[in-house]
Amino acid sequence: MQNKVVKFGGSSLADAAHFRRVAQIIKADPARRFVVASAPGKRFSGDEKVTDMLYRCYEMMRNREDITDFYQKITTRYTDIIEGLGLDFDISGELDYIKNAILHHSGRDFAASRGEYLNSLILAKYLGFDFVDAENVVYFKDDGSYDEETTDREMKKALANLKHAVIPGFYGIMPNGTIKTFSRGGSDITGSIVAKAAEADLYENWTDVSGCLMADPRIVKNPLPIKAVTYRELRELSYMGASVLHEEAVFPVRSAGIPINIKNTNDPLAPGTMIVANATEYDAKHIITGVAGKKGFSVITIEKDLMNSEIGFGRKVLDVLEDNEISFEHLPSGIDTMSIVIASSELEGRRERILSSMNRAVKPDSIVIDDGLALLAVVGRGMVKAKGTAARVFDAVSGQGINIRMIDQGSSELSIIIGVEENDLERALDAIYHEFVKD
Ligand code: ASP
Repeated sequence: MQNKVVKFGGSSLADAAHFRRVAQIIKADPARRFVVASAPGKRFSGDEKVTDMLYRCYEMMRNREDITDFYQKITTRYTDIIEGLGLDFDISGELDYIKNAILHHSGRDFAASRGEYLNSLILAKYLGFDFVDAENVVYFKDDGSYDEETTDREMKKALANLKHAVIPGFYGIMPNGTIKTFSRGGSDITGSIVAKAAEADLYENWTDVSGCLMADPRIVKNPLPIKAVTYRELRELSYMGASVLHEEAVFPVRSAGIPINIKNTNDPLAPGTMIVANATEYDAKHIITGVAGKKGFSVITIEKDLMNSEIGFGRKVLDVLEDNEISFEHLPSGIDTMSIVIASSELEGRRERILSSMNRAVKPDSIVIDDGLALLAVVGRGMVKAKGTAARVFDAVSGQGINIRMIDQGSSELSIIIGVEENDLERALDAIYHEFVKD
């Protein structure tokens, strides 16, 4: 029998009605054995996620404010779910214990983690599944990094004799016994970790959209969904801001060759998006898989006659960045020019220091920093084979009267990156999308 790990996001577990839908989805397929749950998300626009409420409770405690009334709101989120499901389940003891622990300085991560802990207890009870606490199966090292080896071993042991289980997402345990969370949205990572340990055939990640879209729907009207995307393509797209999945969530399953299927709780029969290592069996209809863009970049342009023959020039420039702990994004260069594309936020408060260090290091003829650059990535495994893709990208953008300030094509030919003025990003992105996707 197939073995699937299913992770449900906060929007899919926000209230009792959503719990019912989730239970139907799980029970519809016996292969859905291990369930990873997030904390209750927003029920309507303007509502607050339980995780945010827990962080707030913690801050209130630190400021010596009375948390009683506010904590009651969190309590009500859970008791509403339990009552709405008609469950005979008393979690008042758990809720009291957590409130006390927050008041007695159990830590910020502990407070935040209780959102998924309580939701998973309720879901396990409702489904009749075992509950496996993440604090017994997800481990961190002393330096706070994820401990893959111990987690894999302990998770495998815990799941070995269970037919079904619910595991809370987002947190694990430090060697000193304190609770630690992943970064926000980290239940996606837990899902991936469980899928690897359970040697799942598929990791289903259930959310409130029908998978990844070819472009940001706030910029392009009704972009098409992506049927299949490779891990590497997804990495390029999410780096540029396309977000359906936590960036780190692909790593555990990728190393185990387990595909991820992004699915929509509100439209369970829609195929969603498959994230796979090799997408040849999903022949893409379009040359590009997607296009995404991000604002907030700066370019340092350095010019010096005969730069190309000056040994060590590039290294000296990059040494200055390293000394200032600045990472760069792209490094397009010409014969006598070198440009370094950097997130503008990295330069804050350090511009003068960097300019003078670079002046000292390589004595350039000129060096300037220009801000206001947006980067745009056109991504697609199909681009390798298709001739003229770059020309089509440039024609689409220049057809809009937009100036291209930078071009970079990775050696993998998986993406073409272009830089445009921030104000032009939306129009450039829309033009590229419509160049490749004809309505
Ligand atoms: N509840 C956590 C958050 O809001 C983790 C998650 O949902 O994945 O970030």
